[in-house]
Order: sequence, then structure tokens, then C-alpha cells
Amino acid sequence: MRGFGNLIDGYRRFRANQSSLKREQWRQLAEGQSPRAVIIACCDSRADPATIFDADPGDIFVVRNIANLVPPFEPNGGRDGVSAAIEFGVTQLNAREIVVMGHEKCGGISAVLTGRFRNARAGEGGFIDRWMGQIDEIAQAIAQEHGTGPETHRRLEEAAIRRSMANLRTFPFVVEREQKQSLVVLGCHFSIREGELWVLDEAKGKFRPV
Ligand SMILES: [Zn+2]
Repeated sequence: MRGFGNLIDGYRRFRANQSSLKREQWRQLAEGQSPRAVIIACCDSRADPATIFDADPGDIFVVRNIANLVPPFEPNGGRDGVSAAIEFGVTQLNAREIVVMGHEKCGGISAVLTGRFRNARAGEGGFIDRWMGQIDEIAQAIAQEHGTGPETHRRLEEAAIRRSMANLRTFPFVVEREQKQSLVVLGCHFSIREGELWVLDEAKGKFRPV
């Protein structure tokens, strides 16, 4: 089979590892899913929520996009796959947690901070520019105050997580469930170098290692 690189080798290992117990689990999963958490993560190949949370199929409902951004609630906002996934995970699957997970060395964050794709055409970074434009103002403000070094990078990664959490709270069905305490909104940041997860303590306004 052409075009899959070593993915088919991985698939063969996956098939070979399916014990009868796992097969039974797959059969049960085929009946339906009730994941505990919705996770909004970056597309980055190094920050995979299933790996980091050691999650099994059926455990987490994952939405991935460049820089793990959540746009604000815009009922007439066009083709918004992120909002559709959040709506499904929260209102149809009744997930009890929504986790925004950012990560170290995020390319999307770097792009907005450096203005690398500013005003680029579609196909040359224009889609990234338009998507990351959501946090352009925050990026400008942080860069003005702190420059564009690695510290600023981390600062903006954290600010973007906070913004996504704030935007989640513009969705009425999120606010409603949070008030009834049937849903928790959480933020965290994954360090690739350390393989370490930091969680946002909202009361203290700080990220801390778990
Ligand atoms: Zn990223």
C-alpha cells in the first residue's frame, strides 16, 4: 500500500496487540461513547492529549486546531468546527470537564508573535494568519510589554489558554452547566522538553505543575 509511510506498520502492531479483552471493549464502544472530558488541544504532533493523559478510546473527546483556540460564541459565525465539536461534547455527550491544553513551543503562537504570516495569501500562511488573528491584540500587548523572547512566548501561550477559557464561558450551555456544577472548565500547559503538565489555578491566577 502506498502513501501511508510507516502508518500501516503501526496499524499492524495495533491489530496484533488486540487481545480478546480489548476486542470486547471495542464491541462495547461500538454501542456508544460517553467521554468524561472534552479536550481542546493544538494540532502539534508533540502534544497529543491521548498520550499525555494516557487515555483509552472512549475516554476523551478531542478537538484539535492551531494553538488550541476557542472562538467566542457566534451563532451566525459561519463554518465553525470548534463550536460544533464543543456543542456536541457538552450538550449531547454530557462531558463533565472541558480542558484547554496549550503547549510549549507552539508554532501558532510563534507565528502571531513574530507576525510571520501577516497579510499572507491563502496557501502561504493566510489561513493561519486569519485563525491566529483572534489573539493578535493580546500578542501585541504582551510583545510591547515584554519583547518577543522565550519568556514572552510562554506568556502568550498561557494568555491564549486563558482567552480560550473566557471564550468558552461565552457559550450559554457552558455557563449554564458550570453554574449547576455539572461541568468544569480547566486550563493547562504541556512542556514538551520536560514532559510536564502545568494546570491553571484560577483562584490564584497561576499555572502550577501537577
Ligand atoms: Zn501548538
